[in-house]
Amino acid sequence: MKPREPCTSCPLYDREGIVVPTGVPESKLWVIGEAPGPSEISTLRPWSGGAGRMLDRCLESADLRRSDIYLTNIVRCRPPGDRPPSTKESNHCTDYFIRPLIELHSPRVVLTLGAQALKEFTTNDKIMSSRGYVFRLNSKTLVVPTVNPAAVFHNKRINISVVQSDFAKAARLLRDPTLEPLDYPILIGHETVLRLALERGYVCLDIETSEHPSFWDRTLDVVGVGWSDKVLVMSAPFTRADIELIGSLLSTPTIAIRGQNISFDIVVLMSLGFKVSGELQDTIQLHHAIYSELPHKLEFLGSIYLNCEPWKQMRKSKLEDVK
Ligand code: SF4
Repeated sequence: MKPREPCTSCPLYDREGIVVPTGVPESKLWVIGEAPGPSEISTLRPWSGGAGRMLDRCLESADLRRSDIYLTNIVRCRPPGDRPPSTKESNHCTDYFIRPLIELHSPRVVLTLGAQALKEFTTNDKIMSSRGYVFRLNSKTLVVPTVNPAAVFHNKRINISVVQSDFAKAARLLRDPTLEPLDYPILIGHETVLRLALERGYVCLDIETSEHPSFWDRTLDVVGVGWSDKVLVMSAPFTRADIELIGSLLSTPTIAIRGQNISFDIVVLMSLGFKVSGELQDTIQLHHAIYSELPHKLEFLGSIYLNCEPWKQMRKSKLEDVK
């Protein structure tokens, strides 16, 4: 068969063989790895051998099968020495074989495996801080990055449960077309916060304090209250309305107080004279009950439980003040 033009001008052309995708591009979930290795070249099937078995384990944990997905790599040929493909190589192959098909078929989710595959579809290659978050490729397609499942074999920092949780997130987005990435929350006023807290039965709370050698001399700098869709941020010097709202939220027994390490924040607030009556729901403790072996930082929890962009990497704010 006569090679296609993009291959004759590709830096990886004329090596051992071309590994073509499996599945159909009409699939709503695309899984895109980096490059074929020796096993893939010997079978000419993507994700064969040990890496393939690890991929199957991750798919199975999310109740997915290979027949549910379109499976390919950002380059179809094996780079020399099994190094990661260069940006030039991956751009070359992806521009010809992947991007036009994404345009044509609009998959709901592209699950990328590894740093180079992430870089091909987003603006960064920081895989450990990006994995599990949701990026928007265009109005119809979302990108969920995760690490290369085969990395579990040689990188002790990568836990299989983390990779499986990313596959589960891609599967959730696939099965529920109404699920959208969280948008930036809207700023709201004091009365709305109290009304919604009573209606919803809980409020999320976070505080910032100034550091002081003595815990009891800490001063309160910022208090944030709200939910994923609406927030109110109050900062020092606090107004009477701020203090009354914080007091009402904390002292109403029917309003549960949710937050990351909320037990610490509550001790600080009680030391400042606030009375606390509602149930405390600490995200660290809840996470620990599910995954005691995994990290407990807020950024990590966001990558596991939320459908959102990595907020530390967000460039522009879309906050709207509707007070
Ligand atoms: S990597 Fe892609 S573009 Fe390059 S030769 Fe192989 S199939 Fe062709």
